[in-house]
Amino acid sequence: MSRMFEHFRDPKLAKRVVEKIHDFAPKHDIVKICHVCGTHEWTITHFGLRSLLPQNVEVLAGPGCPVCVTPASEIDEAVQLALRGVVVACFGDALRVPGSEKSLLDAKAQGADVRVVYSALNAIRMAEKEPDKEFAFFAIGFETTAPSTAIEILKKPPKNLGFLVSHRLIPPAMELLLGIGDLHIDGFIAPGHVSTIIGLKAYEIFPKAYRMPTVVAGFEPLDVLLAIYMILKQVKNGVASLENEYVRAVSWEGNVKAQELMQKAFKIVDGEWRGLGKLPSSALKLREEYRVYDAHEKFGIKINRGKDLLPGCQCHLVMIGKIKPTECPLFMKACTPEKPMGACMVSMEGTCSIWAKAINST
Ligand code: SF4
Repeated sequence: MSRMFEHFRDPKLAKRVVEKIHDFAPKHDIVKICHVCGTHEWTITHFGLRSLLPQNVEVLAGPGCPVCVTPASEIDEAVQLALRGVVVACFGDALRVPGSEKSLLDAKAQGADVRVVYSALNAIRMAEKEPDKEFAFFAIGFETTAPSTAIEILKKPPKNLGFLVSHRLIPPAMELLLGIGDLHIDGFIAPGHVSTIIGLKAYEIFPKAYRMPTVVAGFEPLDVLLAIYMILKQVKNGVASLENEYVRAVSWEGNVKAQELMQKAFKIVDGEWRGLGKLPSSALKLREEYRVYDAHEKFGIKINRGKDLLPGCQCHLVMIGKIKPTECPLFMKACTPEKPMGACMVSMEGTCSIWAKAINST
């Protein structure tokens, strides 16, 4: 571990921050702090950070897992393409995500050519090497991965490759959470990696329009503890501002070049989120000039409705922090990491999967 990371895992420093958290936490009122990031949930769960907090300070996990929020209809489109003979290239996490009837792994078991890639560039190389086959790259992810899809589209990839674009945007999901009346969030921890791209400025609306304390945080235990402390301090002082705990990586403007790439390749449209319905201005779609690469146009597919949840799965409630995975009756019974029943148990960024692994390792 590098010295910098050692610093962010220093137990003595952590103890001091935890003491501050206890000093600043209200004595009786419940404070709910919500993050929207699978990696934050991993840090919080893996390092047992919730157990260090006062009992009335809750940290909720919001919709921060890109694979989990991909609606079944878009998985169905990828499955349909694969079963029609198109080579589907996807990230490993997307392979086992349930569609309405099948996952991409099921399609692969039926003989479809589904390949795991690490980037859009991998898919391009495959399409170039096998020009007699048709390929589709299943582009899932938040603002962190969208620029890497955009850059490849702008370079005009081979014509035998289409893009099934399922990118989603984080700030609209945060706005959704604020509209859920009985959730009563008191502060946001905003995701560090998304923020390196979109910058601090993208969250300005939360303190300004919603009076919601918002702190961008990194992923080490001390980053998260500091963010909790910064939010509690704002709550105690009755202020709502936007603060940056992750100054070593996030600037006010963010990565302007990456933002330009996204703007050139995509337009912002309303998007379905698994189990949560349609969120305004929350998804990316290829611009007209690149429609030749749009897998919907290229291969003539469009599935409007899918079955997002298997009977009994409560992923939609887990994803908005309304229930904990342990409150789902299927957790670690009918639904396990080996036999997942919902998207939240599939991805390593899914809250159910993170909690299951923590239980399995104790
Ligand atoms: S434990 Fe499984 S069934 Fe329950 S919400 Fe999580 S993914 Fe869905």
